[in-house]
This record gives sequence, C-alpha cells and structure tokens, in this order.
Amino acid sequence: MTLGEVASHCYNITTSYLSVSNDSAVIESTKDAIQITRNHFLQEIFPRWNPFSDQISFSYNGGKDCQALLILYLSCLWEFFLSSIQVSQYPPEYHLFPLKFLPTVYINQAETFRTLEESIETTRSRYFLSVYESPRNQTSMPEAFKNYLEHNTQTEAIVIGIRYTDPFGADLKCIQKTDSDWPEFMRIQPLLHWSLSNVWSLLLYSNEEICGLYEKGFTSVGSVNSTVPNPYLKRNPVAEREGNGPENHFKWEIRNAFGKEEPTDEVHVSRFSDSDAKILQEAGQLDYYPGWFLVDDSLERAGRARR
Ligand code: FAD
Ligand code: MG
Ligand code: MG
Repeated sequence: MTLGEVASHCYNITTSYLSVSNDSAVIESTKDAIQITRNHFLQEIFPRWNPFSDQISFSYNGGKDCQALLILYLSCLWEFFLSSIQVSQYPPEYHLFPLKFLPTVYINQAETFRTLEESIETTRSRYFLSVYESPRNQTSMPEAFKNYLEHNTQTEAIVIGIRYTDPFGADLKCIQKTDSDWPEFMRIQPLLHWSLSNVWSLLLYSNEEICGLYEKGFTSVGSVNSTVPNPYLKRNPVAEREGNGPENHFKWEIRNAFGKEEPTDEVHVSRFSDSDAKILQEAGQLDYYPGWFLVDDSLERAGRARR
C-alpha cells in the first residue's frame, strides 16, 4: 500500500457511504455532515493551503473523531488529486500521487493507555502518517505546538477533529486563528457540526480498525488517571432482562460495513492490551457495553473521572 492507495480506499468508503439507501435518520444526517466537511476541504481549505505541500498538518491523538476526520481528509485528498490531473491526457494510473506521508502531530501528554499507544502505531503505518510526537509530559499543549512549529517551519494550518459539543467547542469556526495564548497558526476544524452518532455511523461503516478501548465501554479517551469506561454503559443484568439495556444503534452499519464479504456483527477493533485489562480488572470496570452504544452527546465525557 501507499498513501495514494489508502486515500483512494478512503474515497471509496465515503462514496459508498453516500450511496447507501437506507431510511435511517442517522445515516441521512451523516451524509449531510460528510458533504459539508467535503465542501470545506475542497472549496475553502485545499485552495488556500496546498495539501500536497507542508503547509497543512493533521493533529492526531488516535481518538474516534480524528480518525473519522482522517478518513474524510484522505478521501478529499484523493478527489483533489483526481481533479488536479483532469486536464492531463493520460489516465490516473500514469500519475504519481504527490505525497508519500501525511504530516501529523501527536502531543504525548500524560500517561496514556497502552491500547491507545499501540493503536496509534497501527494507524501510523495504515495511513502513512509522518508523526511528530512531542516529548512526553514536557509541556502544555500550546508549548508543545510552539515546539512543533519550530521544527516544521512550513506549517501554516493544522486540522483538528474538534466538535461543537466538545468543551469550549460551541463558538468555534471551521477556519480561525489560534487564540492569543497559543502560537500563531490557522486552526482548521471541519468536523464541528458532527454529532456523536454521525462519527460512529461513518467509523463503524468504514470497517477500518478502531482503538480497542472503545469496545470496552470508553467513549472519550484522556489519560489513564482521568478516564474510566462510561458509567452509562455499565452492564446491568436486571435492566437487560427487562429489555431496558442500552441499544446498539449501528447494527446496520456494522453488518453492512464497507468491504465485508458477508454481514457479520464483528467490529474491527485493535488489540486490547493486557496491562489495560489489568487496570480495568483491578477497578472492577470490565463489564461495559461498547462505546458506540452511547449516542447522547451530552454524556460522551461522563467517563472522565479520577480513577
Ligand atoms: P478530543 O476529542 O480529545 O480532541 C479533539 C481533537 O483535538 C482531536 O480530534 C485531535 O485532532 C486534537 N487533539 C486532541 N488531543 C491531541 C493530542 N494530544 N495530540 C494531537 N492532537 C490532539 N484551544 C484554545 O483554547 N485556543 C486555541 O487557539 C487552540 N488551538 C488549538 C490548536 C490545535 C492544533 C489543537 C490540536 C488544539 C487547540 N486548542 C486550542 C485546544 C482544543 O480546542 C481542544 O481543547 C483540544 O484539542 C483538546 O480536545 P479534547 O480533549 O477536548 O477533545
Ligand atoms: Mg473527541
Ligand atoms: Mg482529548
């Protein structure tokens, strides 16, 4: 595989998603969300910062939001490439995709789950990310980015998978400068309008491997000391017997996921590490529904608590 090939694969995922005929309200709203993000990239962002240069970087922490955004980014990158060679007399296979690796930045903050670290490694090679990893625990986020920019002087804009429903997300815009207490660059935030359901619907349909923590009931991932499985997803046998347990709203996406040869209920998740299993076992936190059973945006961070 090459970056061009995985970008073309992501393009096929989104094209396939956009042609799904299913009368689910979530799928319809996710299609709209995809089109808005796609227009941002192709009409506003890529004409301003050439994605085949070092002007744009992608901020990546292995979470579901930036993975969903990465799939869309790569999909749009492929479309942008196709439109750039349209004038040529030669067919696409005679043109070289102009990028080998995607400039990416990961701020390695507090202690992270081993499962997340391993999953970041997998995605690093899967999507040809050239990851700049900040020294662990060294600095605050703004300082870490200052450091990044000192090493990557060409960077003018950084893509972020933040949504309106995130803390302090409500007033953000798709394209805006950083605040005065941050180093100066442009923030690119084309996922703002996405709901939790939109993210899960696309990600589960994509059949791409997602971080194994989500299968264990995590819905939002921070440091080991400040993240537990979401309490709203705790298995409750009594409620289950009475038919009151939480529901999987994405059964269709999972069964009909992109590239599956036959419908199965299997979700492609990364390996759950033994050390994380031990942490959860000691805390009595192993019996949870998967993170995608939660669709209420206001409860997404209910698992952010001191361990
Ligand atoms: P999450 O869902 O965890 O993260 C949202 C997105 O932020 C992720 O999808 C990813 O793209 C990015 N991100 C989060 N954590 C990391 C990480 N460790 N390494 C790399 N990327 C990460 N806040 C301000 O108040 N003013 C600013 O000017 C400002 N500029 C920012 C510029 C960039 C490039 C980034 C990444 C963040 C900036 N922030 C700024 C902070 C931002 O608004 C969020 O608070 C921050 O991303 C943490 O998100 P979260 O944990 O709440 O949500
Ligand atoms: Mg998030
Ligand atoms: Mg975070």
